[in-house]
Amino acid sequence: MTQLGSITNNHLSITCKTCRSHRMLAVKPLIDRLGWETRLQDIVPKLRCSACKSKGYIELQIVYVSGSGEALLGAGDKKPENETGWKSG
Ligand SMILES: [Zn+2]
Repeated sequence: MTQLGSITNNHLSITCKTCRSHRMLAVKPLIDRLGWETRLQDIVPKLRCSACKSKGYIELQIVYVSGSGEALLGAGDKKPENETGWKSG
């Protein structure tokens, strides 16, 4: 089952089955609120349509968004992971 933590850079395409209104939702803010272990099917009942107020009656699709700003900013500027001093073993 899909956890939010495995699709952090993606968006969710949400379509209301009642009124067909559609919107995109970034996954990252959801992780901040609900935790990365939250599964997709767990958040469906929590989602409410802003147009017709029906709750949990939506179609949900994972959408990969390419060309995010982070990919451009992050290149060549990464710090080594062992800089924290923590080592295993
Ligand atoms: Zn609706």
